[in-house]
Amino acid sequence: MTHSRPGRIAVVGSNMVDLVTYITRMPAPGETLEAPDFEIGCGGKGANQAVAAAKLGSAVSMVTKVGSDLFGDNTIRNLDDHGIDTRHVGRVAEKSSGVAPIFVDPTGENSILIVKGANADLSPADVDAAEATLRAADLILMQMEVPLATVTHTVRRAAEWGVRTILNPAPAPAGLNVDDLRDLSFLIPNESELALLSGQPTGTEAEIEAAARGLIARGIGTVIVTLGGRGARLVSRDGVVKIAPVRVAPVDTTGAGDAFIGAFAHFLAATGDVELALNRAARYAAHSVTGRGTQKSYATAAAFDAFCR
Ligand code: ATP
Repeated sequence: MTHSRPGRIAVVGSNMVDLVTYITRMPAPGETLEAPDFEIGCGGKGANQAVAAAKLGSAVSMVTKVGSDLFGDNTIRNLDDHGIDTRHVGRVAEKSSGVAPIFVDPTGENSILIVKGANADLSPADVDAAEATLRAADLILMQMEVPLATVTHTVRRAAEWGVRTILNPAPAPAGLNVDDLRDLSFLIPNESELALLSGQPTGTEAEIEAAARGLIARGIGTVIVTLGGRGARLVSRDGVVKIAPVRVAPVDTTGAGDAFIGAFAHFLAATGDVELALNRAARYAAHSVTGRGTQKSYATAAAFDAFCR
Protein backbone atom coordinates (compact mmCIF):
# COMPACT_ATOMS: atom_id res chain seq x y z
CA MET A 1 0.00 0.00 0.00
CA THR A 2 2.83 2.41 0.85
CA HIS A 3 4.51 2.27 -2.56
CA SER A 4 3.39 0.35 -5.62
CA ARG A 5 6.47 1.42 -7.60
CA PRO A 6 9.14 3.98 -6.75
CA GLY A 7 8.41 7.27 -8.51
CA ARG A 8 11.03 9.66 -9.84
CA ILE A 9 10.91 13.05 -8.18
CA ALA A 10 13.09 16.06 -8.94
CA VAL A 11 13.31 18.93 -6.48
CA VAL A 12 14.31 22.37 -7.71
CA GLY A 13 14.79 24.13 -4.41
CA SER A 14 16.68 25.12 -1.35
CA ASN A 15 18.93 23.55 1.20
CA MET A 16 19.68 25.02 4.62
CA VAL A 17 21.45 24.03 7.77
CA ASP A 18 18.99 24.30 10.67
CA LEU A 19 20.35 25.77 13.90
CA VAL A 20 17.57 24.65 16.26
CA THR A 21 17.34 26.21 19.73
CA TYR A 22 14.74 24.87 22.18
CA ILE A 23 13.59 27.85 24.26
CA THR A 24 11.42 28.50 27.32
CA ARG A 25 10.42 31.85 25.74
CA MET A 26 11.85 34.37 23.24
CA PRO A 27 14.25 36.88 24.84
CA ALA A 28 13.06 40.50 24.96
CA PRO A 29 15.22 43.03 23.02
CA GLY A 30 18.49 43.50 24.94
CA GLU A 31 17.84 40.47 27.16
CA THR A 32 20.10 37.41 27.34
CA LEU A 33 18.34 34.19 28.20
CA GLU A 34 19.55 30.66 28.73
CA ALA A 35 17.94 28.05 26.49
CA PRO A 36 17.78 24.44 27.58
CA ASP A 37 18.87 22.71 24.38
CA PHE A 38 20.39 23.15 20.88
CA GLU A 39 20.79 20.94 17.81
CA ILE A 40 22.16 21.28 14.28
CA GLY A 41 20.12 19.62 11.55
CA CYS A 42 19.93 19.56 7.78
CA GLY A 43 16.96 21.47 6.43
CA GLY A 44 15.72 23.92 3.82
CA LYS A 45 12.31 23.34 2.31
CA GLY A 46 13.68 21.79 -0.87
CA ALA A 47 16.01 19.37 0.90
CA ASN A 48 13.37 18.51 3.52
CA GLN A 49 10.82 17.58 0.88
CA ALA A 50 13.49 15.64 -1.05
CA VAL A 51 14.46 13.69 2.07
CA ALA A 52 10.85 12.88 3.00
CA ALA A 53 10.19 11.46 -0.49
CA ALA A 54 13.52 9.58 -0.50
CA LYS A 55 12.91 8.08 2.96
CA LEU A 56 9.59 6.76 1.66
CA GLY A 57 11.35 5.11 -1.28
CA SER A 58 11.14 7.52 -4.24
CA ALA A 59 14.13 8.01 -6.54
CA VAL A 60 14.92 11.68 -5.87
CA SER A 61 17.22 14.18 -7.64
CA MET A 62 17.99 17.59 -6.22
CA VAL A 63 18.79 20.75 -8.18
CA THR A 64 20.22 23.22 -5.65
CA LYS A 65 23.29 25.30 -4.71
CA VAL A 66 25.51 25.29 -1.64
CA GLY A 67 28.21 27.71 -0.54
CA SER A 68 31.94 27.19 -0.14
CA ASP A 69 31.79 26.23 3.52
CA LEU A 70 31.47 23.26 5.85
CA PHE A 71 27.68 23.58 5.84
CA GLY A 72 27.75 22.89 2.08
CA ASP A 73 29.87 19.74 2.56
CA ASN A 74 27.47 18.64 5.27
CA THR A 75 24.43 19.19 3.06
CA ILE A 76 25.86 17.18 0.15
CA ARG A 77 26.85 14.35 2.50
CA ASN A 78 23.35 14.34 3.99
CA LEU A 79 21.68 14.17 0.56
CA ASP A 80 24.07 11.37 -0.46
CA ASP A 81 23.31 9.50 2.77
CA HIS A 82 19.62 9.52 1.83
CA GLY A 83 20.39 8.16 -1.64
CA ILE A 84 19.45 11.45 -3.33
CA ASP A 85 21.12 12.20 -6.69
CA THR A 86 23.45 15.19 -6.10
CA ARG A 87 24.78 15.58 -9.67
CA HIS A 88 22.96 18.91 -9.92
CA VAL A 89 24.09 20.38 -6.60
CA GLY A 90 26.24 23.38 -7.53
CA ARG A 91 28.89 25.17 -5.44
CA VAL A 92 29.02 28.97 -5.20
CA ALA A 93 32.47 30.39 -4.47
CA GLU A 94 32.86 32.92 -1.67
CA LYS A 95 29.29 32.66 -0.46
CA SER A 96 27.79 31.00 2.60
CA SER A 97 25.42 28.09 2.36
CA GLY A 98 21.84 28.73 3.44
CA VAL A 99 21.27 28.65 7.22
CA ALA A 100 18.07 28.75 9.29
CA PRO A 101 18.12 29.67 12.99
CA ILE A 102 14.96 28.03 14.41
CA PHE A 103 13.43 28.61 17.87
CA VAL A 104 11.08 25.95 19.26
CA ASP A 105 8.97 26.81 22.33
CA PRO A 106 7.71 24.35 24.95
CA THR A 107 4.38 23.93 23.12
CA GLY A 108 6.21 22.79 19.96
CA GLU A 109 5.48 26.04 18.07
CA ASN A 110 8.43 27.33 16.01
CA SER A 111 9.84 30.71 14.86
CA ILE A 112 12.30 30.65 11.96
CA LEU A 113 14.86 33.02 10.38
CA ILE A 114 16.16 32.27 6.89
CA VAL A 115 19.56 33.28 5.46
CA LYS A 116 19.33 32.15 1.83
CA GLY A 117 23.09 32.24 1.06
CA ALA A 118 23.92 30.20 -2.07
CA ASN A 119 20.24 29.34 -2.62
CA ALA A 120 19.81 32.88 -3.96
CA ASP A 121 22.13 31.94 -6.86
CA LEU A 122 20.07 29.03 -8.22
CA SER A 123 19.25 30.32 -11.70
CA PRO A 124 17.10 29.41 -14.72
CA ALA A 125 20.37 28.34 -16.41
CA ASP A 126 20.88 25.76 -13.64
CA VAL A 127 17.42 24.39 -14.41
CA ASP A 128 18.23 24.16 -18.11
CA ALA A 129 21.52 22.41 -17.29
CA ALA A 130 19.52 19.73 -15.43
CA GLU A 131 17.01 19.29 -18.26
CA ALA A 132 17.65 15.58 -18.87
CA THR A 133 17.07 14.76 -15.20
CA LEU A 134 14.01 17.00 -14.91
CA ARG A 135 12.42 15.64 -18.07
CA ALA A 136 12.80 12.09 -16.79
CA ALA A 137 10.95 12.89 -13.54
CA ASP A 138 7.33 11.98 -12.78
CA LEU A 139 6.99 15.17 -10.75
CA ILE A 140 9.00 18.34 -10.17
CA LEU A 141 8.73 19.89 -6.71
CA MET A 142 9.45 23.56 -5.94
CA GLN A 143 9.28 26.03 -3.05
CA MET A 144 10.07 29.75 -2.71
CA GLU A 145 13.48 29.77 -0.99
CA VAL A 146 15.18 30.14 -4.41
CA PRO A 147 14.71 33.05 -6.85
CA LEU A 148 11.19 33.56 -8.18
CA ALA A 149 12.50 33.69 -11.79
CA THR A 150 13.92 30.17 -11.32
CA VAL A 151 10.58 28.87 -10.11
CA THR A 152 8.50 30.44 -12.90
CA HIS A 153 11.07 29.28 -15.50
CA THR A 154 10.84 25.71 -14.15
CA VAL A 155 7.03 25.78 -14.26
CA ARG A 156 7.11 26.90 -17.91
CA ARG A 157 9.78 24.41 -19.01
CA ALA A 158 8.10 21.50 -17.20
CA ALA A 159 4.85 22.27 -19.03
CA GLU A 160 6.74 22.10 -22.36
CA TRP A 161 8.22 18.75 -21.31
CA GLY A 162 4.87 17.41 -20.11
CA VAL A 163 6.12 16.89 -16.54
CA ARG A 164 3.70 17.66 -13.68
CA THR A 165 4.74 20.30 -11.14
CA ILE A 166 4.06 20.99 -7.47
CA LEU A 167 4.77 24.41 -5.95
CA ASN A 168 4.75 25.01 -2.20
CA PRO A 169 4.68 28.86 -2.16
CA ALA A 170 6.61 29.14 1.09
CA PRO A 171 7.89 31.35 2.54
CA ALA A 172 4.93 33.48 1.40
CA PRO A 173 6.12 35.08 -1.82
CA ALA A 174 6.10 38.83 -2.39
CA GLY A 175 5.87 39.90 -6.02
CA LEU A 176 4.65 36.58 -7.40
CA ASN A 177 2.21 37.10 -10.25
CA VAL A 178 -0.25 34.19 -10.22
CA ASP A 179 -0.50 34.45 -14.02
CA ASP A 180 3.12 33.16 -14.16
CA LEU A 181 1.86 29.92 -12.56
CA ARG A 182 -0.73 29.24 -15.25
CA ASP A 183 0.95 25.94 -16.19
CA LEU A 184 1.32 24.68 -12.61
CA SER A 185 -0.29 21.31 -11.79
CA PHE A 186 -0.51 21.56 -7.96
CA LEU A 187 -0.19 24.60 -5.68
CA ILE A 188 0.15 23.72 -1.97
CA PRO A 189 -0.10 26.84 0.25
CA ASN A 190 -1.04 27.14 3.91
CA GLU A 191 -3.79 29.62 4.85
CA SER A 192 -1.58 32.70 5.04
CA GLU A 193 0.20 31.91 1.76
CA LEU A 194 -3.18 31.39 0.11
CA ALA A 195 -4.38 34.78 1.41
CA LEU A 196 -1.29 36.49 0.05
CA LEU A 197 -1.42 34.84 -3.37
CA SER A 198 -5.15 35.29 -3.87
CA GLY A 199 -5.44 38.72 -2.25
CA GLN A 200 -8.51 37.36 -0.43
CA PRO A 201 -9.26 36.55 3.23
CA THR A 202 -8.89 32.91 4.32
CA GLY A 203 -10.36 33.03 7.83
CA THR A 204 -13.29 30.65 7.21
CA GLU A 205 -13.87 27.46 5.24
CA ALA A 206 -15.95 29.38 2.68
CA GLU A 207 -13.23 32.01 2.27
CA ILE A 208 -10.52 29.36 1.83
CA GLU A 209 -12.60 27.68 -0.84
CA ALA A 210 -13.35 30.94 -2.65
CA ALA A 211 -9.70 32.01 -2.59
CA ALA A 212 -8.55 28.63 -3.95
CA ARG A 213 -11.21 28.65 -6.66
CA GLY A 214 -10.04 32.11 -7.71
CA LEU A 215 -6.53 30.73 -8.30
CA ILE A 216 -7.90 27.78 -10.28
CA ALA A 217 -9.87 30.21 -12.45
CA ARG A 218 -6.52 31.85 -13.28
CA GLY A 219 -5.09 28.59 -14.64
CA ILE A 220 -3.60 26.62 -11.72
CA GLY A 221 -4.66 22.97 -11.95
CA THR A 222 -5.36 22.03 -8.33
CA VAL A 223 -4.95 23.88 -5.03
CA ILE A 224 -4.25 21.97 -1.79
CA VAL A 225 -4.49 24.13 1.33
CA THR A 226 -2.75 22.83 4.45
CA LEU A 227 -4.42 23.80 7.73
CA GLY A 228 -2.01 22.51 10.42
CA GLY A 229 -3.83 20.41 13.03
CA ARG A 230 -7.08 20.88 11.02
CA GLY A 231 -5.84 18.78 8.09
CA ALA A 232 -6.01 20.00 4.49
CA ARG A 233 -8.46 20.86 1.69
CA LEU A 234 -8.20 19.69 -1.91
CA VAL A 235 -9.79 22.23 -4.24
CA SER A 236 -10.12 21.46 -7.95
CA ARG A 237 -12.60 22.04 -10.76
CA ASP A 238 -14.41 18.95 -9.43
CA GLY A 239 -15.09 20.55 -6.02
CA VAL A 240 -13.64 20.45 -2.51
CA VAL A 241 -12.45 17.38 -0.61
CA LYS A 242 -11.66 17.56 3.12
CA ILE A 243 -8.50 15.73 4.12
CA ALA A 244 -9.03 14.87 7.77
CA PRO A 245 -6.24 15.50 10.27
CA VAL A 246 -4.69 12.58 12.07
CA ARG A 247 -4.87 13.26 15.83
CA VAL A 248 -1.49 13.12 17.57
CA ALA A 249 0.17 14.86 20.54
CA PRO A 250 2.53 17.35 18.84
CA VAL A 251 6.09 17.62 20.13
CA ASP A 252 7.64 19.80 17.39
CA THR A 253 5.74 20.99 14.30
CA THR A 254 8.92 22.19 12.49
CA GLY A 255 8.87 20.89 8.94
CA ALA A 256 5.37 19.38 9.06
CA GLY A 257 4.49 21.17 5.82
CA ASP A 258 7.60 19.75 4.12
CA ALA A 259 6.83 16.24 5.38
CA PHE A 260 3.33 16.60 3.97
CA ILE A 261 4.51 17.78 0.54
CA GLY A 262 7.39 15.29 0.19
CA ALA A 263 5.05 12.46 1.13
CA PHE A 264 2.31 13.75 -1.20
CA ALA A 265 4.82 13.77 -4.09
CA HIS A 266 6.00 10.27 -3.20
CA PHE A 267 2.53 8.73 -3.00
CA LEU A 268 1.25 10.61 -6.04
CA ALA A 269 4.20 9.47 -8.16
CA ALA A 270 3.80 5.91 -6.86
CA THR A 271 0.02 5.57 -7.22
CA GLY A 272 -1.34 8.39 -9.40
CA ASP A 273 -4.21 8.81 -6.91
CA VAL A 274 -4.40 12.40 -5.58
CA GLU A 275 -6.80 11.76 -2.69
CA LEU A 276 -5.00 8.65 -1.52
CA ALA A 277 -1.70 10.55 -1.71
CA LEU A 278 -3.13 13.41 0.39
CA ASN A 279 -4.51 11.13 3.09
CA ARG A 280 -1.18 9.34 3.29
CA ALA A 281 0.63 12.71 3.38
CA ALA A 282 -1.55 13.91 6.29
CA ARG A 283 -0.69 10.74 8.21
CA TYR A 284 3.01 11.08 7.39
CA ALA A 285 3.08 14.75 8.49
CA ALA A 286 1.18 13.92 11.70
CA HIS A 287 3.80 11.31 12.50
CA SER A 288 6.53 13.90 11.91
CA VAL A 289 5.14 16.31 14.54
CA THR A 290 5.46 13.61 17.21
CA GLY A 291 9.27 13.80 16.96
CA ARG A 292 11.81 16.60 17.41
CA GLY A 293 13.65 18.23 14.53
CA THR A 294 12.88 18.35 10.82
CA GLN A 295 14.35 15.63 8.59
CA LYS A 296 15.16 13.56 11.67
CA SER A 297 11.45 13.38 12.48
CA TYR A 298 10.55 11.99 9.02
CA ALA A 299 9.72 8.31 9.02
CA THR A 300 11.28 5.73 6.73
CA ALA A 301 8.86 3.61 4.70
CA ALA A 302 9.11 0.84 7.29
CA ALA A 303 8.54 3.14 10.29
CA PHE A 304 5.60 4.78 8.49
CA ASP A 305 4.04 1.41 7.72
CA ALA A 306 4.35 0.54 11.43
CA PHE A 307 2.71 3.89 12.41
CA CYS A 308 -0.18 3.20 10.01
CA ARG A 309 -0.92 -0.25 11.46
P1 ATP B 1 5.51 24.39 8.56
O1 ATP B 1 5.91 25.67 7.88
O2 ATP B 1 5.61 24.43 10.07
O3 ATP B 1 6.18 23.18 8.02
P2 ATP B 1 2.98 24.64 7.14
O4 ATP B 1 2.23 25.85 7.57
O5 ATP B 1 3.64 24.63 5.83
O6 ATP B 1 3.97 24.19 8.31
P3 ATP B 1 0.85 23.01 8.15
O7 ATP B 1 -0.43 23.36 7.52
O8 ATP B 1 1.12 23.52 9.54
O9 ATP B 1 2.02 23.38 7.14
O10 ATP B 1 1.01 21.42 8.22
C1 ATP B 1 1.01 20.61 7.06
C2 ATP B 1 0.19 19.37 7.31
O11 ATP B 1 0.78 18.63 8.39
C3 ATP B 1 -1.24 19.63 7.72
O12 ATP B 1 -2.08 19.78 6.59
C4 ATP B 1 -1.56 18.38 8.53
O13 ATP B 1 -1.94 17.33 7.65
C5 ATP B 1 -0.21 18.03 9.17
N1 ATP B 1 -0.11 18.61 10.54
C6 ATP B 1 0.47 19.76 10.90
N2 ATP B 1 0.36 19.98 12.24
C7 ATP B 1 -0.31 18.92 12.73
C8 ATP B 1 -0.77 18.54 14.03
N3 ATP B 1 -0.54 19.29 15.09
N4 ATP B 1 -1.45 17.37 14.14
C9 ATP B 1 -1.68 16.57 13.08
N5 ATP B 1 -1.29 16.89 11.82
C10 ATP B 1 -0.61 18.04 11.64
